[in-house]
Amino acid sequence: MIPAAFEYFAPQSVSEAIGLLEKHGDDAKLLAGGHSLLPIMKLRLAQPKVIVDIGRIGGLDGIKADGQKIAIGALATHDAIEHSAVLKAQCPLLPEVAAVIGDMQVRNRGTIGGSMAHADPAADYPAAILALDVLRGDAHDRPQAQ
Ligand SMILES: Cc1cc2nc3c(=O)[nH]c(=O)nc-3n(C[C@H](O)[C@H](O)[C@H](O)COP(=O)(O)OP(=O)(O)OC[C@H]3O[C@@H](n4cnc5c(N)ncnc54)[C@H](O)[C@@H]3O)c2cc1C
Repeated sequence: MIPAAFEYFAPQSVSEAIGLLEKHGDDAKLLAGGHSLLPIMKLRLAQPKVIVDIGRIGGLDGIKADGQKIAIGALATHDAIEHSAVLKAQCPLLPEVAAVIGDMQVRNRGTIGGSMAHADPAADYPAAILALDVLRGDAHDRPQAQ
């Protein structure tokens, strides 16, 4: 199947991406790894008029510990989460979950931000992150996806 026609933008910064979203509103969809959005576009279950590809914006793929918190960038791939030393040491559930998502291609391109935004109830991260919320006692000590 071939997706419906769309306009494509590849912003270089977060502010440029936000400007495009403000301009195009509900006609626009962000593109991250594309492993959920592109299949539904090919089936024409989604027909966005505008695609805003955030994959070339630098600095959104980090995984950093800051005291008791861990900041995970929206563009951190499943592969990066699987192999993150910080997460393995401080929040091993997420690397364990990432390791069983799809196949190597999906893990190399798919992102935690895309998975959470797509919010497929059968996906792996949403349940794991809900479980982390339930299990943690002190809200101020939570590792958080951002
Ligand atoms: C063959 C195959 C097998 C898979 N197997 C599994 C599996 O076993 N377990 C599992 O959990 N998932 C699985 N997936 C889904 C995969 O993990 C996707 O990569 C993920 O769900 C979406 O991430 P993405 O970066 O590809 O997002 P995209 O497809 O680019 O985007 C998905 C949605 O999120 C929105 N979006 C993306 N990034 C952002 C952002 N930063 N802010 C706001 N909105 C955003 C997009 O506009 C779109 O609506 C599989 C996918 C495929 C194709």
